Amino acid sequence: ARAQAMQVDGSPDVSYSDIGGLEEQIREVREAVEEPLVNAEQFREVGIEPPSGVLLHGPPGTGKTMLAKAVANETDATFIKMAGSELVRKFIGEGARLVRDLFELAAEREPAIIFIDEIDAIAAKRTESKTSGDAEVQRTMMQLLSEMDGFDERGEIRIIAATNRFDMLDRAILRPGRFDRLIEVPNPDVEGRERILEIHTQEMNLDDDVDLGAFATETDGLSGAELASLATEAGMFAIRDGRTTVQQSDLHDALEKIEADDDASSVPVA
Ligand code: ATP
Repeated sequence: ARAQAMQVDGSPDVSYSDIGGLEEQIREVREAVEEPLVNAEQFREVGIEPPSGVLLHGPPGTGKTMLAKAVANETDATFIKMAGSELVRKFIGEGARLVRDLFELAAEREPAIIFIDEIDAIAAKRTESKTSGDAEVQRTMMQLLSEMDGFDERGEIRIIAATNRFDMLDRAILRPGRFDRLIEVPNPDVEGRERILEIHTQEMNLDDDVDLGAFATETDGLSGAELASLATEAGMFAIRDGRTTVQQSDLHDALEKIEADDDASSVPVA
């Protein structure tokens, strides 16, 4: 079960330059996660403990996982990911033990970044979620808290968690010594969107008429993940039309399709 519940990546292939926008978030993550790993000695000499855990919060598909992978890459740390939702759905009865295994594995593979995605699945307020009243989910969360409380902040393991449901979180996990550094990861602004479009069209054969800056102004509200799939979709339109270059019109067609898909998926299913 341990092998399935955790995803281990010795050298994730994401770097800071693959992330569009989020300059401020990158700076904060570097300060809270990278610095203590790289300059542990300096923290020891100054006599302060670095932040224990960092919590990334914001809408889906904005680059939270990318940020965590990029820090691991930059610090040559092992990236160990566990999804809170899977602990609750797939590994019923094993949550607390898997959390213990997670920290053990990180200790074996240090330096390591532990990334807990969808932490709200195991750390929701009791009133907010049906599952959190569950004794098993409570045990999983207690195990996580106790691992973090007993944790030596000066070691070579850092913990990053992510959530799309910040409002749902049990405040106990935000106490000092736990996830005490919050970083908001919002949807990109217009410059961020242009940069993300640039990144995801880098390898594409773009026609001279393509103006990503102008197009970015039309994509307000889209996440990084949506912009990435938009780029691919634009390529599909070019292929359907028998072309090998992507034009501005393909981007517009792709945007229309993504907006239509979005509307369709938000219609409640009876
Ligand atoms: P979730 O909350 O749904 O887990 P997330 O915030 O962790 O999402 P990621 O998994 O990091 O999002 O992003 C998904 C994909 O979307 C990335 O692999 C990348 O292709 C694209 N993407 C998202 N945000 C960005 C960004 N800021 N810059 C470049 N690409 C991005």
